[in-house]
Formats: sequence, structure tokens, C-alpha cells
Amino acid sequence: MHLVTQVERAFEPGGALARHWPAWEERAGQRDLAIEVARTLEHGGVLLAEAPTGVGKSLAYLLPAVLHVAATGERVVVATCTRSLQDQLFERDLPAVLGALGLSLPVALLKGKQNYVCPRALELASGDTPAERDLLGSLRAWAARDAIGDLDRFPNAEGEATRSLRARVATDPSACTAATCRRGRECFWVRARRRAAEASLVVVNHALLARAAEADGLLPAYDVLVVDEAHRLEGVLSSQLERSASRHRIEELLRLTGTFASGRRGTGLLSRLRGFTAPLLESNEARDRLVADLEQLSERADDLRRDADQLFTLFAADMPAGEGPYARRVRHRDAAELLGGDLQSLEVVLEHMRRHAVVLGRAAGLVQSAAAAGAASEELQGELENIANRWQRMGDDLALLVDADERDWAYWRSQGPRSRAAELHAAPVWVGEHARRLVRDGTRAAVLTSATLSAAGDFTWAAERLGLGEERGAPYASLSVPSPFPLERQMRAYVLDAGSDEAAAIADVVAALWHAARRNTLVLFTAHERLRRAHERLRTLLPPGAPLWAQDRDGPAGLLAERFRGERAAVLLGVQSLWEGVDFPGEALEVLVVARLPFSVPDDPVVEARAERLRERDLEPFRHDAVPEAVMRFRQGVGRLIRRSTDRGVLVVCDPRLARASYRGPFRAALPVEPQLWKDPQGLAREAGTFLEGISMEESP
Ligand code: SF4
Repeated sequence: MHLVTQVERAFEPGGALARHWPAWEERAGQRDLAIEVARTLEHGGVLLAEAPTGVGKSLAYLLPAVLHVAATGERVVVATCTRSLQDQLFERDLPAVLGALGLSLPVALLKGKQNYVCPRALELASGDTPAERDLLGSLRAWAARDAIGDLDRFPNAEGEATRSLRARVATDPSACTAATCRRGRECFWVRARRRAAEASLVVVNHALLARAAEADGLLPAYDVLVVDEAHRLEGVLSSQLERSASRHRIEELLRLTGTFASGRRGTGLLSRLRGFTAPLLESNEARDRLVADLEQLSERADDLRRDADQLFTLFAADMPAGEGPYARRVRHRDAAELLGGDLQSLEVVLEHMRRHAVVLGRAAGLVQSAAAAGAASEELQGELENIANRWQRMGDDLALLVDADERDWAYWRSQGPRSRAAELHAAPVWVGEHARRLVRDGTRAAVLTSATLSAAGDFTWAAERLGLGEERGAPYASLSVPSPFPLERQMRAYVLDAGSDEAAAIADVVAALWHAARRNTLVLFTAHERLRRAHERLRTLLPPGAPLWAQDRDGPAGLLAERFRGERAAVLLGVQSLWEGVDFPGEALEVLVVARLPFSVPDDPVVEARAERLRERDLEPFRHDAVPEAVMRFRQGVGRLIRRSTDRGVLVVCDPRLARASYRGPFRAALPVEPQLWKDPQGLAREAGTFLEGISMEESP
């Protein structure tokens, strides 16, 4: 039977879903999406599918996916954005769909290396305080019992103490020497990959998927790829590809390398090597030379520190003074912009790095060829090679970041507010080619889905960013499923046009809304500075004791979101991470204030470089790129308000461009109701309060 027919039957009254869940209600959008996914899986190709909150898109892609696996034996990889969504999919949604269909399939969950306990790191780790030593004891006992070793499953995984210890016991992706590690049998990461290789459906996250595209063998070969939260794939790819060099990274590598000082207590890898040199190296001459080289390397560590300090401070010269607690960024286009004509400081640091790579590489070679080399030396050799390669890569990265001569990359330096030194960064201007390879290379069919992939129903922008389209040899089909909620009855939208001091106007309307409605209010900002000023003013406008929290000032986004969910009449001010991926159903959120239309900062180095490329193609960057990108973000933000069919809420956009700008069309199209324009915050708040009050009275018995 064709896959599409199987899916249609599962959705019929009396079909598998209705039989398994007596309260099952068919949702037309979910069924349409599932059928379109089935068609893509059956015939191949790429589908971009947009399905807003409430459609139930997990079931809509999992159902055809598992039916397809059962019928064909093809391997499907499902990627979602975060580890918690990954857990939810694997532990709740996938078993539910398999149960409803009465199927049993080999399925596996695979996260990135650094999420698993590394038995070797756990053995070597030592706690600095009695509490840390207790926690390490609990971790060891848990690791001895647990079959998976996924640190997210450790009881109290979110606790502060566990989080700070996590990096010391987790698999370090760049330090793990799986090829020579003796703990392969007990290694959780090795076992997780083995389970993935044996499974026909593997659930991963975007970061792992992105890394797998650049590293062979990380994931088993697959035929079908399903990417959920696909609007975030580009950003994840970009951060995976980003290169950076900093004083901090050098210090970290120096720490791992350790010291080899005779007569003193050494640290790190080199001190362990010292214990092995005598038994491993039969030739006195070879041993003496190696010992001399390593001692010299240890002595160079302080010189490297001093020279790196000087170089990275030089990178910070002429950085404009900035305000606030966030790093400043300045783009550079070549080495001269960073260092003038004087490359001496750079050459000195590069020479230190080369020397580390050469000496450690030579040590690895000697250990390998040592006559007495046994299992222990193999492990040591692997570690030496690994650290030697990291020194080599760091030198290559530093040279590349200074040269800045890859045309399709943007290069910049950044400096934190309390730092004397700058860091160097580079990221590709477009990641479309990488995304296309990920989606198309080796796969027969791919489905990319999200609540937001189009601007006013047009998928061109998202497709272009993901490297898809007829002209790029990667045609795609698209589907946009409407919301199943009666949004026009559930929400009201307002535009506030209240003068030139934006932060003050935002604070005034938030306070007025709070007094008029006393509902949970989320305020989404695009700039930290505006958030800070609005926060200060709100503190004077709200009564003492009213719950008012600002992201990063009162805690990290995740923690504040949790508190906000459990509170009533609270005000939460957020940036970036609260625009998407957070769920505040029902009374957890009834008033949403958008401080500004979320355009990217034009002097963001990547945005600036992208605009240059577009102009070269005679395309106008603002309309062609900035508007659709901002529309997508705006839709994500607005999507926080109504999460269920019974939710109610008001949206206030404090940006008159939504009412007047020539490009307002796609932003307006993103709203399910026509927004009303107000100049008076008090009047707007009264109107919003009346709407929410009326709804509450309708609901009361
Ligand atoms: S292979 Fe060895 S070093 Fe790598 S994670 Fe496993 S136990 Fe740790």
C-alpha cells in the first residue's frame, strides 16, 4: 500500500489514531501536513512545510516517517533544535506514535559528544571542595548504574553545582582520542553511536547534524532527513562554522598541555608524559633530546602568555568605546587594519604555536615507536597527537583570522566591556551551500518544517538562505498550513505611537497595561540598552513587590521563563532567546509587548558583509534580506502569545513603522488581526484591559 494511503487511513475516523486515542480529534492541517510529508518520503525531493502552533507537527512527520521505515527499511534521521525538544520527541512523541500504529522499530537518540560522561575524564576528575567531591561520588555511582551516560539524565542535571562540574566529566569533543582510548567498551559516547548505527530512526539535534556534515562518520548514512524548527538551522550552521581565536583559548590549551619541569610537580599531559619517558624510550639519546625539548616547551609557556597578551591587546587598539555590559564588534578586511604594517607580534605568537605542535607531534612519534609501547603508551600517543593538532589548528586559525582574505567570510574583532584584549572571529556570509549539502547530499528525501518559514506565504527567502531553489539545482515543494485556532477571537493587536523616547514609551505602556489588566506580561526587546532603560523606569512605575525581571540582569532566560510561568501579574523583559522556543500557555502569558520590529543590527559584521554581496548582485539588501528576516523573527515573537485553543491575549507593538512604513505589508500579514493604532498608552491599556476582562467574564461560570 502506498505511504500516502497508509497515512490517510491512519487519520480516518476509526483509523489507527482514533482507535488508539479515544479523545482523538482530526485536525485538517495536521492531516494535510502528514500526507504531504508522506508524499515527499515516497517520491523523494525536498519539502518546506510551515505549520503554526497547535497543528501538532511532530505527529504529522513522525507518523509517515515510522510507516516509511517499517515499509522500506530506509534510515530516517529526525533533527530538532534543542536537547530538551530532542528528549521530548524521543521519550514522549515517538513512543506514542509507535504505540498508536502498533509498531516496534529500532530507534535511537544521539546527542553531541559533550553531553555524555567520559569515563576517563570522570576517573581523572577531582573536586575542589567537599561538596564537589560528594557530587563526583554521586556522578560515579550514577555512571556505574546508567546504561546511557547522558548527562541530561543525571538527577539534578540542572543544578548549579552539576552545571559547573559538567565540563570536567563530559566528553571533550576536541580532547577525546577515541581511536586510541582504552575505554572504548565502557565509553557512553561510543555506545551511543553504536546504537545509532543499528537504528532505523535516529533522533538528533541541529548542532550534531551540522557537525556531522563536516565530520565523516559522526552519523550513520541515512536516506531521509526531517528537520524540525528548521528556521534555526541556518544560525546553528553558522555558529558551527564560526572560527575564533582568543587569549582564553590559548590559556585553555596551555592548561591541557601542562608542564614538564624537572624537580617540580608538573601538571597536565606533559607531567604524565614525564612518568612514561624512562620506561618507554630505550635510547638514552632519544630520551634526552625529548626531555630537553619538552622542558624548553614548558619554559616557553610564560613567554607565550606574555606575547599573546601583547598581541591580543594590540587587536583591541582603536576599538570604539562602548556602553553597557556587552561586547563591541568591529569588522576588519585585512591584516593591515588589525596590525598596521607590523606583523612581528603575530609572527612571534605563531612561532610559539608551531613549536608546540612540532615538539608534541615528535613526542607522539617517539612514544609510538618506543619498543616498550603497550596499551598505556597508545593512549598517551593519541593524546599527544590530539594536543599537537590543536596547537597546529590554533595557529592556522589565528593566521586565517588576521589575513581575512576569504571573500565569502566576514571577519571581526570583539572586546568585552572589562577586557583589555580583543578576540578575533570569522563566519561565512552565507551558509546556504553547507545547508544544501546537509539536506541534499546522500539523502533521497528531506522535510524541513517550522512554525515560521515564509514571509506572507513566500518561502523564497528561507529557501535561499538554506541554499535551496531551482536555480541552485535543489528544487523544493512548499506547504503552509493555517493555524487551527480562532485567533481573530482570541487576540487583539495594537500599535503604539507614543513619541521619540522609545524606552520611556515602552515602560509607560507596560505599566499602564499592568495596572489595567494585571496579567503576565512579556516584553521583547531587540537591544540590551533599551531594555536596561525601560527596566529602570518600570521599577519606578510598578508598585514595590510587583514581580519584574529582566533577562541577564535578574537571571538567565531559562530560569526567568520558569519563574514567569509559575507567577501571576509578572513582567518579564527579554531579548533574543525569549523571542522563540519558549512556551507560555494560558495565563502564563496574556500580554505580549514587542518593543521594536526585530531588524538585525546593520553594523553586525555578517549582516554588513551580506549586504555588500547583495548590492554586487544589484539587489537592495533592506527589502531583499533585512525585511524578510525581521518578519520571520517577528512571527516567532508573536507566536509566543497564543499557544492553545483556549488562550487569550493582547499584542502591543511599540513601533509605529508597523502602521506607516512602506514595507509594513509582510509584518501586517503576519498578524491574524488588524492592529489598532494608539498614541495614548493609558487609552490603549484600558482598551486591552476591557478585552481581557470581557474574555475572563465570558469564561467564568
Ligand atoms: S573514547 Fe575515551 S576519551 Fe573519548 S569519550 Fe570515550 S572514554 Fe572518553
